[in-house]
Order: sequence, then structure tokens, then C-alpha cells
Amino acid sequence: MRSGPESINTGDDGRDARRSDFIRAMIAADIASGKFGGRVVTRFPPEPNGYLHIGHAKSICLNFGLAQEFAGARCNLRFDDTNPETEKPEYVESMLRDIRWLGFDWGEHLYYASDYFERFYEQAEGLVRKGLAYVDSSPEDTIREYRGTVTQPGRPTPYRDRTAEQNLDLLRCMRAGEFGDGEHVLRARIDLASPNMLMRDPILYRIRHAAHYRQGDAWCIYPLYDWAHPLEDAFECVTHSLCTLEFENNRELYDWVVENCDVECRPWQTEFARLELDYVITSKRKLLHLVQNGIVDGWDDPRMPTLAGLRRRGVTPEAIRALVDMVGVARTNSRVDYAKLEYAIRDDLNTRARRVMCVVNPLRVVITNWPEDRTEMFDAPFWPHDVPKEGTRPLPFGREIVIERDDFMEDPPRAFHRLAPGREVRLRHAWVIRCNEVVRDGAGDIIELRCTYDPETRGGSTPDGRSIKGTIHWVSAAHGVRCEVRLYDRLFAVPEPGAGEEGDVVRDVNPESLVVAADALLEPAVADDSPGTRYQFERLGYFMTDTVDSKPGALVFNRIVTLRDTWKRIADPGAGSTGRPQREHTSKSQPAATPAAERDRSPAVETAYRVLVARHDLPAEDADILARDPAAIRLFDAAVAAWTGTAGGARPLANWIIHELPREAGERSADDLPFDGRELAALVSLAENGTLSSSAARDVLAVLAKEGGDPASIVDRLGLRQVSGEAELEPFVRQVIDANADKVADYRGGRTGLMGFFIGQVMRATGGRANPEVAKTLLEKALG
Ligand code: ATP
Ligand code: MG
Repeated sequence: MRSGPESINTGDDGRDARRSDFIRAMIAADIASGKFGGRVVTRFPPEPNGYLHIGHAKSICLNFGLAQEFAGARCNLRFDDTNPETEKPEYVESMLRDIRWLGFDWGEHLYYASDYFERFYEQAEGLVRKGLAYVDSSPEDTIREYRGTVTQPGRPTPYRDRTAEQNLDLLRCMRAGEFGDGEHVLRARIDLASPNMLMRDPILYRIRHAAHYRQGDAWCIYPLYDWAHPLEDAFECVTHSLCTLEFENNRELYDWVVENCDVECRPWQTEFARLELDYVITSKRKLLHLVQNGIVDGWDDPRMPTLAGLRRRGVTPEAIRALVDMVGVARTNSRVDYAKLEYAIRDDLNTRARRVMCVVNPLRVVITNWPEDRTEMFDAPFWPHDVPKEGTRPLPFGREIVIERDDFMEDPPRAFHRLAPGREVRLRHAWVIRCNEVVRDGAGDIIELRCTYDPETRGGSTPDGRSIKGTIHWVSAAHGVRCEVRLYDRLFAVPEPGAGEEGDVVRDVNPESLVVAADALLEPAVADDSPGTRYQFERLGYFMTDTVDSKPGALVFNRIVTLRDTWKRIADPGAGSTGRPQREHTSKSQPAATPAAERDRSPAVETAYRVLVARHDLPAEDADILARDPAAIRLFDAAVAAWTGTAGGARPLANWIIHELPREAGERSADDLPFDGRELAALVSLAENGTLSSSAARDVLAVLAKEGGDPASIVDRLGLRQVSGEAELEPFVRQVIDANADKVADYRGGRTGLMGFFIGQVMRATGGRANPEVAKTLLEKALG
């Protein structure tokens, strides 16, 4: 998979042929026009301040993928390590490992921005000499204040007119360490009145007396991102500098830097949408917070969305690459349904993972008509009929077996097709058994079932034609191998963890993201397989041994993914405890990809775009999307007209139409929905004024899109109003504290990381309606 001089690969499997997006189109056009003399150089520039996560995978696959697809192209791996405070060799090493694991290779082209410190500095002196940079000695907040606001131009500080000589002298003293942190900064002299705030004399260098993990104490001034990044690209003769959309505003400054510095190559920046997944955080900073607070067991905790975590969980690089392909490259930010990731994982493992049996929560079953010392060996196929693979293993059956506790019910409803007193069930690969007796211990708990097997049903068929609806898995008690099974689930219980409140993602942690089954029993044939083998445990999901904790003789398995999307079920009011209505996870949950030539707007679209920006002050990105959809504009206009909330509703309304509505609207146009702007405005204002949490507001939107109606009555009907009153919340807090005495003790003993757990429990108890801030305050009070 080395990137190198290969021809454009259209792929026998058709995989690459499927990839066509605005970036690939742009590069093909640049090659055709000879813009860079036919060269294509991309780069992946991570900052080594954490581990790579699934969002980075998108950028890696894109940048290294382009290098593989275009003849003579290459992709540099560059550590963007210009910040002494947060970077570490551990992170560099993990990133090298993770990129290789994902299937990419940088060949010779491994670079460190910190190797360019001297060159950045030379360029800075160059700017100073040209009068394009100056040393500002104002305190940080003065600089901020003088920079003005979106509506007011900035003003020069008293230092803006220092001469080039003065500036050069001061800059040299800054470098020489003659000043303390924050005493001076170097700023570009650009335009204090620019509508782009980033162009108002941005800071290039800051004094920081801090050791750098590669440069030690060699430097005490460190370059800022907007200064260093374009130069790094230019030094490496990168042609296509691809970054995520939040850097769109930085492009103007990027261009200014490469145009005003003394560099030979001219790279161009292009932005694409970040990969954001529901129920997932893609921010190293927030992930670090989880690691540092012990909420997870390190960067490679199998629940983490890091590549290291996904790898340890058992996810393959192929599945991640498939997800990235599925999502595609567009210029519209959208959140991807978590179910897509799970789909990619299952799809990949389906033909990779042999089917075996493991009982996670065992209940002993004695086959009373089976002789004590008899063992029968089945030759059981590893693969179901629809996977064209062969292979079998010996599967022992004896007088005592175990089945899942869940597969027995003493007093079952009619639709329960598994084992119950007097009923029959089929044992996978073996016989039909009938339950005759239930044995209990002194405490009244069921400890054993006594059953008989029907010798006529070997292999599961019934010669007399009687119908046996259920088939369950089992393991021979005498032959099974005891192991630990870690049932991992989504790390977060809400689609947008930490939304709203500043960075506090802890409260959204799913308290059931890890459930340990310590006494599982695995069939013996695979107990000595090599570590890292993946299986489907029949009816339970896909599993792999844990690469850290599993040992021969003490196996530990991680659940990679369940066989079906269990979250639909959990969110169902009939089955779940959250009391919230079902949120459909459909494949239509994102806005359609923006057309490749999306920068060219037709005259009509252009007019609509300008109106949206000028009259409603929408961000360019949002206006661009809305402008292309006349029905959406009609809905937007009607909603703006009906807006009764405080302050301008245009931005939040646009936001809901662009980012939330498509999931619920599916194929329907905004004209075909059973509600209008008035209802949308009412809903959004309930969300904006805090009556509804954002997830509750989404639930209301789902109902609106299905059947229309009045948002306020839907809120009341579903009981979604956010509970913010202390008196109202107090009983829930009490209840949670009373039910979790051991965790309360742990918390008081110093495990303050459990706060997230407690808040999560209060959220559950209130069906997601508690105001988390208030809940937190009350919990802190109660927990002392
Ligand atoms: P984080 O907040 O996780 O630190 P970052 O952008 O600051 O993200 P970098 O190490 O600077 O992290 O990122 C390296 C590259 O990966 C950048 O080019 C960045 O645009 C890209 N990248 C980061 N996150 C995502 C994402 N969620 N989707 C796509 N690309 C991403
Ligand atoms: Mg960054």
C-alpha cells in the first residue's frame, strides 16, 4: 500500500472507481491544466498531542488514498509539532503505528514541523524587513480589544508603527530569551479593518519559555498555527493542502503567508467536511479529558473512538476504510449515523469471523436421559450456508450443558420461542430438548434445569414434523472453557456528547458501556486459537480476544459489535427505560452530498445565496446549502416570519433545516412535510429557550415530520419538557444515590470521575429530561 509512482488505479473490485468527489475532480483538473506541472503532493499533518481517532482516519484515507490513486503522487506524513506544552513522543509513536495499521505508508516522507523552526524564524525576519510584521508589546487582552468586533474595525496599538530596525532588534531579543512569557508578540501587519478577523494583524510568534519534546530548550518563541502551517506546506512543496471546513476562514491568511514569504512552492488549501459520528467524540482534547479522569482505561480502551481503541476492540482497518468510503468527501458538515460504522464492521466481519458458541451468562442444564459417561462429538460447520466457506470443528455434547439464562423463562409470554417448563427448544447443531423440572437454591434462585433430549432429532430435525420454533446456543459444561467476556457498548448515551455545555462530556457517558461477564463458557475447539482471531459468537455478536488482558488459560474476549442495532430497541418506550420515543436510525440521516461543482452557483441560486447572507446573516456555508433547495428556502422564510423567540432566529432555523430536518424528511422535499414554518419556528424556539434539550427537540421534530401537529402539545404529550427546578429534581437525585451505595462510597473515597455516571443515572431516571447542569449541582451537594 505504499504511496508511490503508480498509475491511477481504477481497481478490479470497482472500489476506487466509486470514489469520485470534488477533491478528486479538482486534482484531475489541476493535472489536466498543468497547474503544478502535473505534480500531486498531499500531506497528513497531525499534532502529536493525543491519539489518532476515527475522524483522522478520514483525512488519512483521503490524503494517502490520493497519493495511491494519482500517478506519481505522494503523501507526506508531517507531525505538526509546534506547541511545546502538549506534545509527546508517545503520541508520535502511536500515530506512526496507527497509520501503518490503517494500511498506509509514507515511505521516505516523514517530516516534523519542529525541524523547520529556524526556517520559520528566517521568514519572520524577512517579513519584518519588508515592513509586513511588527513586535507588539501590548498585553494580550489589549490586543484582543483593539482587534475590534465583527461589526467594528480594529484599531492600531501604539506599537504598530515601530520601524523595521526596532522590530528586528526586538524580535532577535525575543528569540534570545530576553523577555518573559507574554511580554511581546510578533504580529503580521495586514489590515485592521478586514472583515475577516483573522486578517487583523494576526499573531505569528508568542514567547513561551517551555521545553519542546524534540527541540528541548533551543527555542522560547513558538509559531502559531496560521503562521507555521502554510510555510510547512510550502517548504515541502505540497500542492494540495486539504483541511477540514473550520479552516475556511484561515485560507485568506494562508494565502497571504505563502504570497508574502520567500518560498519557492505555492500550495493551495482546500477544505472538506469533518467526519463526525453520532454518539462519538472526535476531539483529542476531549478524549484526553476522559483518559486523564479515568473515565476510560487509557487511549486504547476498546470503547474509545481512537484507532488504538478500535483496534483493541477488534475492528479491522478494512472496516474503517469502508466507512470512510461510504461517507465520502463533501463540503457539507453532517453527523454520520453511528449505525453506519456498525454496519461497516459487521459487513467486514461477516465473511471473516467463524461462527462458534459461547455462553455468556450460563445456566446449567442436566439431560436426565443421557448416560453419565457418554460424550457425543458433532462435526459442526463454522460457516452458515450463505457464506461460501468451508470448515468444521468437533463439538462435544455431554450430560451437562449450559445455556444463556435469558433463553429460559419460567412463565413466558406466548411469543417466547425458547426454553420454558414443559416446552421444547432446539440446541444448535445438536438435539431438541424438553424442560421437565426447575431446580432452585435456598434463596429461591434458579440454578439448574432438568431436561430430556429427543434421540430422533439429531442435527435438529424432527422426523414427525412437529414444529420447534426456537434454536439456542449452548456449551458442554464438562468441556467448555471458562473465560471473561467484556460486553462493550457505545461510550456515550446521547448522539451529541457534550453538546451545549462547555466540554463536559463526562455526564453523557453511557453507564452501561462496559458490562463484564466473568463466568462465560466457550466451546473448547477454539480455546487455543491464536490471539487476535475474530469470531461470531452465535446470537451474541462479533468478538475478539483482548490484546492486553487475554492470556492462554485466562481468555478475555471483547465484544466488537452486536449482530443487530440494539439502540433502536433501547430507545423504544415499550422496551426501554428512557421513556423517549424511538429515533429511527436510517441511512437517510444525512443531507445529500453537495455536488462536486458546488462553488459554481447558477444565477438564481446565487441571488438566493446573497439574500440569505445579506438579509439573514447566515454563514456562507449554510447559505450555500439552503440556496440550492427552493423548498427549503420557502420553509425557512415561513419560519423566520413566524419566529417569536427572542433575538434573531435565522441562524438556528437554518441550522435545523440543514442539519436536522434531512434525517426526518428522508426523500421528501420540505414542501411535502406535514408541518410548516410556524411549527418549525415554535419548535426551534422551545429548543433555544431551554424548554427542550436538543435531543428532546429532535424527538419532537421526528413526530412533526411524521404526523405534523403543534410542537408544544407534542412536548406535553411525550413529557419532554426539561426539568430544571431543584425541587423537582431532588427526588431523582435521592433515588439514584440510594440505589448506588457502593458507587457513592467510591466517589466519596476520591473517584470523582464517577460524577458522569451519577448524572447519567439521573438523566435515565428522568427519561432524559433533567437539566444536566442542575442535576450536577444537586449531586455535588448531595455527595458532599
Ligand atoms: P483534534 O481536535 O482531534 O485534535 P485536530 O484537527 O486538531 O483534531 P490534528 O492532529 O491537527 O487534529 O489533525 C490532523 C489532520 O486530521 C488535520 O488535517 C485535520 O483537519 C484532520 N482531522 C482532524 N479531525 C478530523 C475529523 N473529525 N474529520 C476529518 N479530518 C479530521
Ligand atoms: Mg489541530
